[in-house]
Amino acid sequence: MLTCNQASQLISQSLDCPLTLTKRIQLRLHLVICDACRHFKKQVTLLQAALIRLREHTESDPSITLPEAAKNRIRQQLASK
Ligand SMILES: [Zn+2]
Repeated sequence: MLTCNQASQLISQSLDCPLTLTKRIQLRLHLVICDACRHFKKQVTLLQAALIRLREHTESDPSITLPEAAKNRIRQQLASK
């Protein structure tokens, strides 16, 4: 049986790529018995949907842009890593 930590990792992974059949079954079994992980999965799914809607909104509105100063700060932070 998965621990809650393992289940939450699988929930997060499932957002990026499909899980193997074995992992999907393990996760479903855990979710049947664990309210906390079911709640976590619901919250993560809602957050993902909100981010998709936000991306769609910002991509369709050319007036929404990141200021050049902010872009430069991000570039500097990435370069320093
Ligand atoms: Zn759990």
